[in-house]
Amino acid sequence: MSRQINIGVVGVGHLGVHHASHLSKIKNANLVGIHDSDPERAEEVSKKVGTESFDTMGELLENVEALSIVTPTSTHRAVADECIKQGKHVFIEKPITSSVADAEYLIDLAKDHGVIIQVGHIERFNPALLALSNLEIEPKYIEVHRMAPFMSRGTDVPVVLDLMIHDIDLILSFISSPVKEIYANGVSIMTSSVDIANARIKFENGSIANITSSRVAKDRVRKIKMFQQDLYVTIDFLAGISEVYKAMGATQNDPDAIMSAPLVDSEGKHRQIFYEKPVVKKTDALKAELKNYVNAVLGKEVPMVDGFAGKQALDVAIKIHDKILEDLR
Ligand code: NAD
Repeated sequence: MSRQINIGVVGVGHLGVHHASHLSKIKNANLVGIHDSDPERAEEVSKKVGTESFDTMGELLENVEALSIVTPTSTHRAVADECIKQGKHVFIEKPITSSVADAEYLIDLAKDHGVIIQVGHIERFNPALLALSNLEIEPKYIEVHRMAPFMSRGTDVPVVLDLMIHDIDLILSFISSPVKEIYANGVSIMTSSVDIANARIKFENGSIANITSSRVAKDRVRKIKMFQQDLYVTIDFLAGISEVYKAMGATQNDPDAIMSAPLVDSEGKHRQIFYEKPVVKKTDALKAELKNYVNAVLGKEVPMVDGFAGKQALDVAIKIHDKILEDLR
């Protein structure tokens, strides 16, 4: 039997309870216990998941080699600092920290202690996205909408760091070119920080991404559209649906094509468009993400989103937020 890693969860609020629950069932993980600064919540979750609740993080650290940190973003640096200094691997929920300097500090610290940082950009594990893994996605243009009804959770950071950062991370994973220019604006509605934001990012290679995020919407929406030469892809992350439109040249009219153009390309072929709806597996993204982390600690996989990728997404998010603040002044 392969080795199990002893693992703990720090912060078992809305999301942390799901981390603990999944980790208690992952084959290569041994959930040793949890810690939460709210003792009542810790007690409730320890009973629910069937694991030990440690009164202090120090006691939990003595018994594990890896942790999931699911505390509010404003605490990520301090909590991860303590874990890494004790030589423990850390999975840090997104965003990695609330400042780029803090993220850089943790990345350097992890390097010095030879431990892994993985960051919880969960959409990378969304089955609707994974269903497109056979395609070479290099978009010229991306349009993303992410909307959610208002909740007080997550409001310790502006909407750009809470919601938009998911899409920033996805965009940076598709477009491998430095950011050239950012235009952004936003408004505050329910909190003293920005609750609705729009950003347009131009990359050095000419690609453009347009992102809209709101945490005061009536309904939840998480959709992305990507255009590139001969390929148009849409993903509905909530519904778990992906759609692919491919343009190809054909000498004869193909009955499977949804559109045929009279235009003839350089090879004398008619342009035709084919539609495909890939089969999306019904997998749990959080469980897949945590399995990736456990396997990374075991040295069997590399983290899909490491500390550096988490820092890159945060860097762009903070630049967008700064642009919005400039506009609001
Ligand atoms: P939450 O407020 O519901 O839970 C946070 C928990 O951490 C609480 O139980 C609190 O008592 C505890 N806590 C606070 N400070 C602590 C400390 N120093 N030590 C130990 N426990 C502490 O918050 P949440 O919604 O679960 O969010 C937690 C993190 O997860 C945030 O960083 C958030 O951005 C992230 N998140 C990610 C996603 C995602 O899609 N990946 C979704 C929701 C939240």
